[in-house]
Order: sequence, then structure tokens, then C-alpha cells
Amino acid sequence: MKRELTDPALLRNSAYIDGRWVASGADGTFDVRDPATGRLLATLPKISRSETAEAIRAAHRAWPQWRALTGKQRSGVLRRWFELVRAATDDLARLIVHEEGKPFAEAVGEVNYAASFLEWFAEEAKRVTGDVIAAPEAGRRIVVLKEPVGVCAAITPWNFPAAMITRKAGPALAAGCTMVLKPAEQTPLTALALADLADRAGVPPGVFNVVVGDPIEIGAELTSNSLVRKLTFTGSTAVGRLLLAQSATTVKKTSMELGGNAPFLVFDDADVDAAVDGLIATKYRNTGQACISANRVYVQDGAYDAFARRLARRVADLVVGAGFDEGVQQGPLIDADAIAKVESHVADAVAKGATVLQGGARHPRGELFYQPTVLTGVTDDMAVTKEETFGPVAPLVRFTDEQEAIRQANDTEFGLAAYLYTRDPERIWRVSAALEAGMVGINTGLISNEVAPFGGVKQSGIGREGSIYGIDEYLELKYLAWHGA
Ligand code: ADP
Repeated sequence: MKRELTDPALLRNSAYIDGRWVASGADGTFDVRDPATGRLLATLPKISRSETAEAIRAAHRAWPQWRALTGKQRSGVLRRWFELVRAATDDLARLIVHEEGKPFAEAVGEVNYAASFLEWFAEEAKRVTGDVIAAPEAGRRIVVLKEPVGVCAAITPWNFPAAMITRKAGPALAAGCTMVLKPAEQTPLTALALADLADRAGVPPGVFNVVVGDPIEIGAELTSNSLVRKLTFTGSTAVGRLLLAQSATTVKKTSMELGGNAPFLVFDDADVDAAVDGLIATKYRNTGQACISANRVYVQDGAYDAFARRLARRVADLVVGAGFDEGVQQGPLIDADAIAKVESHVADAVAKGATVLQGGARHPRGELFYQPTVLTGVTDDMAVTKEETFGPVAPLVRFTDEQEAIRQANDTEFGLAAYLYTRDPERIWRVSAALEAGMVGINTGLISNEVAPFGGVKQSGIGREGSIYGIDEYLELKYLAWHGA
């Protein structure tokens, strides 16, 4: 696979504020590196707090004209952005492979997923409707309008460098909001390429801005500036809590897509091969670095041995390598902290009695590579079941009783995704109802698409992204009490 961009103009090394490329930040520069090789990809300006405030003012200035357009006009702009993203699929995928490390084929999948939010919300932009409610007194009408919230700040993670942006910018712009985005410092190049394509699509200056640099500096301004009416965040629960607290001082609306600790339940009556396929899809995609990745695998007694054996065989065959290598299925982890966490989780599990059935160590391919791993004999006192490992490790926990499995599955502060494999329809309803999760995969490990509402309960988040519900996060209700109507 060719590594160079077909359109080199998409490699941007500046921030994007008010329709202009800002090459020098007041706070110096930072480097972006390829996790597979350590190679320097770009040096970008660190946008300062006052430059972030300038981006917010630009978004605020741009808001009246953007909101004054009809939904159909905004739809047209988003549709052009969608088409340009689709046309640039391979280049965007190359940028994702370079800065994030995932295999090229997965990166193409992410770009398609990212584009689907622009397409979906281009359509939804035309369908913002209000209500007329029957009033309790004669001579009155109750009219409910939906209006854009205003300037939105977005903070996004590195693991899906394109999709986490369009899933926020799509509905925000469709609703008539403007946005200042701070992408993750590991993966700003995809965000800047998306901004370049937005510019080409005719998104007006100030409507979509990208600031890059120190998260604490930029985050402080985004959360305290009163012109920002909404913060939308995807990332860890720890940072989400901090941003919620910071946003409290200016009482912002918030959407939070936070960490998960997804349980994956396999019952005796499951199709074991299908369950293995499903686990491979959710666990080893993006090297386990997804918030909906299965983190704990509960397998019932009768299926346990066959499941473990078949899983280990499949996992042993996964091809590990850099994202551009031919046929590769698993790339590097994002950084040294990530690999250290995986190592510590495996060491803790082994020290407490787990067995390494497959993998269990770093991979010779390079510093940030880890072998796809299966652990058996895992118990609930091990860190691997308590915290998100965010790596290619499947810990198998044996269970006997359905109620016990549900209790263990729910024994966490998180509630993003859960998965279950069974052929019994009554069990499907019973277990799905009992699981404390925003999303439940039933006989599937793949649950994300633009049509379905994505989001969590408990400390996994607030709000939903995508679907017919996603645009509501960027709209306020206004009630008109109309006397004499
Ligand atoms: P991860 O563990 O996936 O890196 P984080 O929650 O640390 O998750 O990062 C998600 C996003 O939050 C990134 O864009 C990161 O730069 C940003 N971030 C991290 N810490 C802060 C902070 N204190 N203030 C604002 N943004 C932050």
C-alpha cells in the first residue's frame, strides 16, 4: 500500500481558525509521530489559551449567519463535505495509519464510518421539527421550537481520529451550531485534513475551527469561556469528570462519551464459532483500543473449553504488523503508557492465578507491539476485569449461573456496551433488560453505525451520538406561550 498522500495538500501543519491556517502558536510547537516506527510525521504549533479564545470568538461571530441558513442550505454544505471525504478516503486512511497505527483496511473502514455521519446529518439537517401542544386554556397556543445551542467545543480522542470528529461536527453543523474542535495531540493530522475538506466544501470561516496543542491550556479556555454553550467530549472517564467540573462554572450543556468496561457473555446454548468471530471483531479491532471493545469475557461452563480453544487458535493466526504491511490485522499500541498498562494487567492476572493461553508478551515487531493475548482462569479480583485494558487481551472468566453472570457484568461503574451470545430468545430479552449498558450486542460484536444511538449509562457518559436522536444534543427547546392565538 502506497504511504504517500495522493493529495499532499491534505497534510496540514497548522491550526485552522476563522477559515485561516495558523502556522505559529504563541506557545511553541509539538511533534506528531508514527507509533509503528517512531518516525516524525509533523511539527505543529501549540495554540495558546488566548488563541483558543480567538477561535471561540470567530465561532461566535460566524454563528448568526450559519444559523440563519435554512436546514436545506446547511444540508447542501454538509453533503459536499461528505462527498469530499468520500473522494479522499484513501488519503484520510493513510493519515490515520501514519498517526494512529491501525491497519490500512481498518482505517478505510473508519473513514467510511466517519463519512456516514456527515451524510446522515446532512439528511437530518432538513428534519428539525417542533411541536404545537394543545393548551390548557382557550385562546392560547403552545408552540415549541428547536434552536441551535450555539458555539460548541469538541474534544476528541486518538483512537478514531476521523469518526469521533464527524460524529460531533455533523450534528452540530446540521443543527446550526458552530464548533471549535481540539483533537487529540497524537492524531491532529486527520482532524486538520477534515478541516481542509470542510473549507473546500464551503463551510464558512469560523463555523468549524481546529485548535491543536496542550490539552490542559486549550481545555481550560474551552470549558471556562462563556461564549461556549456546549462541550462535547469523547475520552476517558477521568478526563470527562474533570471537564464536567470545569464546565460547571459556566453551566454548559455537555455530551460525554467516556470509558467502558464491556462484558461479553457467552452462554452454553450459543453458537461458539459465531461467538469467537464476534469476540475477535470487538476485541482485537484497533488492537483493542476502543471504548466498546469487550474487556471481560464471561463464558458458561458448558461452552468454556471449546470457546477458549477455538479463540486461542484464531488469535494465534492474527497477523501483527505496521498498518501499511500487507495483510496485517493488528497494529501497534498508541504509546509507551498504553503498552505498560497492558503489561501490568497481564502480570497482575498471572500473579493472581490466570493462565496465558495465547500471547502474553510484547511482540518482536517493535517497541509498541503486543501479542494478541488470551487469558483463562480469570477472576473478578484481577485488574483486567476492573479497568479498561485498552489492548489486545481477552480475559476469560468461567461462570455457571445466568444471574451470577449478570451480577458480575454489572459490577462496574461503567455502562457503555455489553454483548451476549445465546440462541434462546427469552434469555435474550431477560439478559438484555438486566444489563446496565447503553448498547447491547446480541449475537454480534459489531454495533456501531450512524443510524443507531451510541452512548452509555452510569459513568460511561451522558447523551447519545448518531441516529435520529443525535441532533437533539445540539438543539435547545424554546416554548412560545401564545396568548390570543
Ligand atoms: P485517552 O486515554 O484515550 O488518551 P483522554 O481522556 O486522556 O483519553 O484524552 C481524550 C482527549 O482529551 C484528548 O483530546 C486529550 O488531549 C484530551 N484531554 C486530556 N486531558 C485533558 C484536560 N485536562 N483538559 C482538556 N482536555 C484533555
